[in-house]
Amino acid sequence: MRYYPAFMDLSGRPVLLVGGGEPAARKLRLLVRAGARVTVVAPRANREIAQIAEAGQVTLCQRRFRPGDLDGQGLVIGATGVPVVDAEVSRAAEAAGLAVNIVDRPELSTFITPAIVDRDPVVIGISTGGTAPVLARRIRGAIETLLPSRLGRLARFAESFRSAVAAFISDGRARRDFWDGFFDGPVARAVLAGDERAAREAMLSFVNRRGSPGASEGSVAIVGAGPGDPDLLTLKALAALQSADVVVYDRLVGPEILDRARRDAERIYVGKAKGDHAAGQAEINALLLDHARAGKRVVRLKGGDPFVFGRGGEEVEFLRGHGIAVELVPGITAATASAAAAGIPLTHRGLASAVTLVTGHGAEGEPEVDWAALAGSHHTVAIYMGLTTAGRVAERLIAAGRAPGTPVAVVSRATLPDQRIETGRLGELERLVRDRAIEGPALILIGEVVALADAAALIEALPLRAAAG
Ligand code: SAH
Repeated sequence: MRYYPAFMDLSGRPVLLVGGGEPAARKLRLLVRAGARVTVVAPRANREIAQIAEAGQVTLCQRRFRPGDLDGQGLVIGATGVPVVDAEVSRAAEAAGLAVNIVDRPELSTFITPAIVDRDPVVIGISTGGTAPVLARRIRGAIETLLPSRLGRLARFAESFRSAVAAFISDGRARRDFWDGFFDGPVARAVLAGDERAAREAMLSFVNRRGSPGASEGSVAIVGAGPGDPDLLTLKALAALQSADVVVYDRLVGPEILDRARRDAERIYVGKAKGDHAAGQAEINALLLDHARAGKRVVRLKGGDPFVFGRGGEEVEFLRGHGIAVELVPGITAATASAAAAGIPLTHRGLASAVTLVTGHGAEGEPEVDWAALAGSHHTVAIYMGLTTAGRVAERLIAAGRAPGTPVAVVSRATLPDQRIETGRLGELERLVRDRAIEGPALILIGEVVALADAAALIEALPLRAAAG
């Protein structure tokens, strides 16, 4: 390891910053937040630096750097971007035995600064040892998406109860266990969800009555996993997966998405293929209830959105009826994902002023759907679970007056690497599905808007393009 990682306490300590442009301003912002006593030396300072100086937060010396500037300083940062000046600052600082950083010049620096994810007071520093700044930025992006935005508040919240908790859990090991449970528990979740008042009340009644802060109470989050591409998980879904003890998932949830769950979470498959009712709904409900009652944080992960043909409503009803706390996390549903994949706007001025999400499959085969109501033009129909009944549905729509020439698209495995998009006309929908051997899961889009899925959009949607680019 070339660089030794460390965090510096600069509060009230003197720092010399040489330079007055944007790179210097970037450094200054962080230095001021860290409470450093900064002296900026630069012949010209940009507006931001001048404003900070006017506000009295830093001392600004509007002139060139000279070695005497180093007297009494504790740390030196050079950000002029002028090679001779940077080199001079570096040399003088080293000669004076001061730690020095020259922006973007590791060879002139005795320390380098990391890319950071800032959830103050939680700060994550990322360094590639100067080898690949772009990689550091990408890692930062990945970590940003993983950490809840209120993580810093959670840290401060915990800090505010540290001594109270220490006062009555004297055993160090038991205290660590307590905090471990705390960060997985409902109080921490309330803080992260922005409900600090409820969290504080719960903690207060815990430290006063020495009851349980509910760390052992289980809960269920019903989470939409989106159409398949793990990048289409919401940040909330990711956070839920990261905190799950148990993940109960469906057939539509692929391994790439499951990989995002906490590594030691138990994974339970309850997928139902058509005609293979592996686990019935009653069994799934019981499973969720049992794990929640055992104090587990359960994530019920469903393809797309849990409330669009996902039976999420039944699970919520059942769990709440049994007094279990349920959280809902929406997901991107197959209709919007397929539409985006094929470049088809579901509504469009002049072409469609309504869109209906409808199932092609009922409990006993054909569903109870008023197809006549969907037969008017200017109405986009998105059919879920419609492959096997495609011919019948097309017949009914046409019988009710929809033009046989209405464009249709069948999007199979939208957003997955083997996504396919087939287009045709309503009158030939059954043949299209059969002849092109389309496999599920697939979504059927019917309506004038489908004509907007031009060749460019289709090429755009080819996964090959992503692979080549
Ligand atoms: N809750 C899910 C729908 C579950 S019903 C959602 O909101 O998307 C299952 C049906 O969803 C499938 O038969 C298919 O019609 C559709 N579907 C799910 N994922 C899909 C995908 N990646 N591409 C196309 N259709 C999909």
